[in-house]
Amino acid sequence: VGGKLKAAGEAGAGTDEAPESRILVFVRLRPMSRKEKEAGSRSCVKIVNRKEVSLTEFSSENDYLRLKRVRDSQFCFDSVFPDSTTQAEVYSTSTADLVEGVLQGRNGTVFCYGATGAGKTYTMLGTMENPGVMVLAIHDLFSKVTQRNHSIKLSYLEIYNETVRDLLSPGSPLNLREDKQGTVAAGLTQRSVYSTDEVMELLQKGNKNRTTEPTLVNETSSRSHAVLQVAVEYRSLDGVNLKVGKLSLIDLAGSERALATDQRTQRSIEGANINRSLLALSSCINALVEGKKHIPYRNSKLTQLLKDSLGGSCNTVMIANISPSHLSFGETQNTLHWADRAKEIKTKTQTTVNEEVLDQPDSKTMLVLELQKQNSV
Ligand code: ADP
Ligand code: MG
Repeated sequence: VGGKLKAAGEAGAGTDEAPESRILVFVRLRPMSRKEKEAGSRSCVKIVNRKEVSLTEFSSENDYLRLKRVRDSQFCFDSVFPDSTTQAEVYSTSTADLVEGVLQGRNGTVFCYGATGAGKTYTMLGTMENPGVMVLAIHDLFSKVTQRNHSIKLSYLEIYNETVRDLLSPGSPLNLREDKQGTVAAGLTQRSVYSTDEVMELLQKGNKNRTTEPTLVNETSSRSHAVLQVAVEYRSLDGVNLKVGKLSLIDLAGSERALATDQRTQRSIEGANINRSLLALSSCINALVEGKKHIPYRNSKLTQLLKDSLGGSCNTVMIANISPSHLSFGETQNTLHWADRAKEIKTKTQTTVNEEVLDQPDSKTMLVLELQKQNSV
């Protein structure tokens, strides 16, 4: 049963240390699909109020038609989104504040967690008609960035079978390395973008490059983690200061305990690796919650990449996606368990922004900046 929630930042108030906040955790319930209805699904998820959700376990015993209620468990989160919630509502409640921070030179991360088919990609990428968090965040950035000395750059990568690949220009696998801004993928394409339409097109194209494998359980299902990184650079008018805010938006692979299905083929190896990244994620979550000294980030590519977001100075949001159907009870229970655990993770509030003093610009840059300055008044 979920405990009481404390407001972000509350924990460290009144001390000299960097104030602590915690990962904000949201749950999004998707509508029952036609397939689920046809299979005789009953809803096992009930939204109690804006923050609470209850999960009912049914037992069919030998009589499939007469499901018996076994028990209810209740969970509390920062917000619970019913199936009628729009993409814009999900964005404004979960992510809009992070975007504000990024504009001021802070880092933010949003990741979607849940079983295959629970609505992660719909939430993150969405469709042309109903764009998701990735697109709405960038749209919001464009509308707030009016000065010419801002630039927005995108990179989009996937982690598949513990290999990192560039989704914007697919080619050979990339290596991860540490630098002073955190973990970066060496040689990853960074694309400057100027309009929301361009971004949508880029992401749709990138998503086609994602590795999907048909499994025996689902026709197609995402076996990879997709990570969109948006870097917003702000150069002061005199060209001396550079602020960089980084927003990471992550569509994780399905969290179902894959795969008891096809043991002798590629898919069992795949399953092991998906488990490796998600398992490593759960080990890190556990270690962080328990306040351990050593957090095993290096156990997988995903946790290496998420190191900053989980344990560093970063504002982090988790969106847990769930299906209402009682046929997915096990997956939903698993998702709510990890979501409940994740809200215990303390992060450090970033009190300073990512800012550096650049070398004195050369004379040509000075001239450009001077002209910009004149034009902006
Ligand atoms: P996942 O990425 O978690 O495997 P998807 O996002 O692909 O799952 O969702 C599975 C299906 O359910 C898709 O057809 C998607 O369009 C639909 N879907 C998911 N969430 C919603 C929602 N909130 N409203 C309407 N349709 C949804
Ligand atoms: Mg998906």
